[in-house]
Amino acid sequence: MKVLTLNAGSSSLKYQLIDLTENTVLVKGLCERVGLTDSVHRFDRGYGELKVTAPMKDHHEALSLVLEMLTDVERGPIASLEDIDAIGHRIVSGGEYFSESVCIDDDVLEKINLCSELAPLHNPPALHVIYACRELMPDIPEIAVFDTAFFQTLPPRAYIYPLPYEYYTDYQIRKYGAHGTSHRYIARHAARMLGADVRDLRLITCHLGNGASIAAVDHGVAVDTTMGLTPLDGLMMGTRCGTIDPAVVTTIQTRLGYTPEQMNEIMNKKSGLLGVSGISSDLRIVEEAAVAGNERAILALELYAYFIKRYIGQYFAVMGGAAAIVFTAGVGENSEYMRSACLAGLEPMGIVLDARKNRLRTGERIISEDRSRVKIMVIPTNEELMIARDVETILDRQRQAALLAASAEEEIEETLV
Ligand code: AMP
Repeated sequence: MKVLTLNAGSSSLKYQLIDLTENTVLVKGLCERVGLTDSVHRFDRGYGELKVTAPMKDHHEALSLVLEMLTDVERGPIASLEDIDAIGHRIVSGGEYFSESVCIDDDVLEKINLCSELAPLHNPPALHVIYACRELMPDIPEIAVFDTAFFQTLPPRAYIYPLPYEYYTDYQIRKYGAHGTSHRYIARHAARMLGADVRDLRLITCHLGNGASIAAVDHGVAVDTTMGLTPLDGLMMGTRCGTIDPAVVTTIQTRLGYTPEQMNEIMNKKSGLLGVSGISSDLRIVEEAAVAGNERAILALELYAYFIKRYIGQYFAVMGGAAAIVFTAGVGENSEYMRSACLAGLEPMGIVLDARKNRLRTGERIISEDRSRVKIMVIPTNEELMIARDVETILDRQRQAALLAASAEEEIEETLV
């Protein structure tokens, strides 16, 4: 089965064509600067990246370019669009409407649209891409996979903010979480690596990339996560501040006369590693500066690790322990320093990192000492594969339901005869 995964950002369109039968990625690519000048389409069939500059005035044009490339006689991995069995769309917010992936119909489209307020940079372009798919590939089924769905299992004590309750009932102000597809993927994968069922484990999953979040996954079910109404909450990130005293916001606004938009920009784009170090949002660059002795870079790294440690402690308490702590994404997969800094001193909790294994560079791996009660793992995330698998599961379910309905009809006919 060949599944095209599509992930629309405000000015980008990321995609992969995955052959689930062969377990291979046939091509992956990214359209950048969609709707702006100097748009670029990069793609890779496994022989090195190719880059084409082409105007893309909107996501419809970007998708048309992608489809042209997919079926290009020389460069394309497939002969015709009919070779694509289904399309999986990454949708950032499904609000409270969706607790799992669904086949897209008009009702689903309407609900994704209603959630646009919660993900203004992502849901509208995703809708645009879905409409373009309907036009360009009308016979191919489309599935929506929501970033928030995994966190719909959170209990009210984890998702209600202690504000006047009407803000929740009237305006849906609550914790929704994000990165759900990644947390779900690494939780399942970790269980497989441990030779266990995810429903028998308590796991703390740490997605540490430019955006970063941690989840408490109790017996396969998410019970808490660090991101909130928006991805700003929780951990300190590349450019986001994460959790701060809410009064800091109003104090800065009052003292400096900032508008809510300016404050939003500061907390989302100018804070985190970049804000504290004054050097970069890129952890590698901050690490280099710290090694060279830059004090603000050292402080930024300490803070970053401290936020992670605090949440690991919280989720240990929330679940009453954990079988494993799992790291993924750019920082989680690659920064030996950050893994060791955030886990330092946790030996009394049965969390013992193996310094030699922590230096290993690639692939999925267990990096705790054998005596560590809690396993420490690194698993490269693969949201696209998770999306493609959801698509396969939903289509299988539909096929089986259709078969059952057909055989029930046959039985009725036989009885009548
Ligand atoms: P992502 O959003 O998952 O692409 O992650 C981006 C973050 O991962 C950036 O802060 C990078 O600096 C960080 N990163 C990637 N590779 C490394 C590395 N080898 N060491 C430290 N940080 C890294």
